[in-house]
Amino acid sequence: MNRSFFVFLLLLPLFTSSAQQTVSDLDFLLGKYDYRTASNFVKVDKNYAAKSIYLNEVVYAAFKEMHLQAKQEGVELKIVSGTRNFNEQKAIWERKWRALDNMVSLAKVNLILEYSSMPATSRHHWGTDIDINNLENSYFEEGRGRAEYEWLVKNAPKFGFYQVYTAQDSGRTGYREEKWHWSYMPLAAKYLQNFNELVDYCEITGFEGSELAEEAGMIPNYVNGIHRELHSPLPLSILPKGIVYLQDEE
Ligand SMILES: [Zn+2]
Repeated sequence: MNRSFFVFLLLLPLFTSSAQQTVSDLDFLLGKYDYRTASNFVKVDKNYAAKSIYLNEVVYAAFKEMHLQAKQEGVELKIVSGTRNFNEQKAIWERKWRALDNMVSLAKVNLILEYSSMPATSRHHWGTDIDINNLENSYFEEGRGRAEYEWLVKNAPKFGFYQVYTAQDSGRTGYREEKWHWSYMPLAAKYLQNFNELVDYCEITGFEGSELAEEAGMIPNYVNGIHRELHSPLPLSILPKGIVYLQDEE
């Protein structure tokens, strides 16, 4: 039995214990549920968030540990966006859609997709992904923002968080780089796998421009357009603290 299969077995309880109890797996993946009342979601304390934000409880616990270490090292981390459901993503999408009224549809879609997801395809639906401190790359390129970003690059993986939308020069497709968007991969990797198994273009519907989802390559280019090393099977280095796994045999 190879090593990654052992890791899968050992992580299985983590994934299954976080499964949605009141909504179907499909509706959960599409953001069609109320995270405020979902049993495995919690509201983030205002000390950690810039507004009312909810996260999967496992993700929140990992964030709090990361926040504590950062604070001890002089870095302040604030969540500026967490879980968003389908309707919230639809409101963002359609506001941008209306603002670009004079463009042809596919060009409009491609422009909005530089930084915003189509409803039903956002990782923010899953409760695993957070935006930290600021929503501009330029903020993270100098001064305090740069120190925060460098701290995250070095330390966030120890807590399970990874930058999924990295620079595109390595061939990554989809959204532009987002230095603020961090994903709790021990859970999100499983949800991405579920998404690829369960979601087809017929489910990506119910908003302006949804008929262009396939032409825009939403599933291969955007939903799967994450940093290459973060695709399954997960490397061992991605394991969060506290997960015990079998020793290597070397
Ligand atoms: Zn984000």
